[in-house]
Amino acid sequence: MSKIADQAEIFSLTVLGARGSMPGEGRKCARYGGATSCYLVKAGREEIYLDAGSGIAGVKSAPEASVSLLITHMHLDHLVGLPFFAALGNKNRSLEIYAGYHQGLSPKEAIDRLISPPFWPCFIDDYPAKVKFQTLVTAKEINEFAIGEVSVKFMEGAHPNGCTLFRLSYRGKSLVYATDFEHSPEDSARLANFAQGADLLLYDAQYTAAEYEKYRGYGHSTPEEGIEVAKAAAVQKLLLVHHAPWRTDEDLDALEAVFAGQYQEVSFAKIGEEIILGEGEN
Ligand SMILES: [Zn+2]
Ligand SMILES: [Zn+2]
Repeated sequence: MSKIADQAEIFSLTVLGARGSMPGEGRKCARYGGATSCYLVKAGREEIYLDAGSGIAGVKSAPEASVSLLITHMHLDHLVGLPFFAALGNKNRSLEIYAGYHQGLSPKEAIDRLISPPFWPCFIDDYPAKVKFQTLVTAKEINEFAIGEVSVKFMEGAHPNGCTLFRLSYRGKSLVYATDFEHSPEDSARLANFAQGADLLLYDAQYTAAEYEKYRGYGHSTPEEGIEVAKAAAVQKLLLVHHAPWRTDEDLDALEAVFAGQYQEVSFAKIGEEIILGEGEN
């Protein structure tokens, strides 16, 4: 198989932003990054962005790519980069945005509240790209749709105002995106079932176990709980995300060292890192 064909069939995840709640800045978080939630999944010619936090700002899509955006929920840190998403500025681009209802609002209604005067000078419909909204009806049961060859399973998670969990599968490999998730025996068991056998699990580890006691009910989790879900789901790799805004690179290095021996593959997401899940050899 030629190198070009391999590239065309790649399945990968790139971290464009893994900071939780609000952007961080400066040298203290240069390696793990200060940009809020955004991940790019490449699957053949599909470019599927997970959330539109500040990490999506300025990102350029490949000219030939088919571009979609999956939004887990409407909290600011997952949307603040959307007005700066380069794909919206291209009149030749069609873009599909998928999200659930939140507080009774469709994705279009929710985004029109945020990206509109006086918070922003225009609406999403005013951008040159052709944007199509797809509304997902989320529940505690698993539902499914497809983006090209990518199967997308989704399910309601556990977070104030709701948050959708996604599982993307392509040519026998799969990844699960479980950001803004707060553990409980029931919800952790549902997530472990949802993530069963995945090659990669992105899991909200905003707090340390000690901090968690203070922030119970805020809708986030810990590395310890992520490891429990990863074990129950027998996932290959656990990637901890949604880093607390106050956490420096040094703090995250120290936490990573603590958890390194506690699961077969576990690390905290670093901005710019790319994880290859499949190279299309089958
Ligand atoms: Zn968040
Ligand atoms: Zn949130």
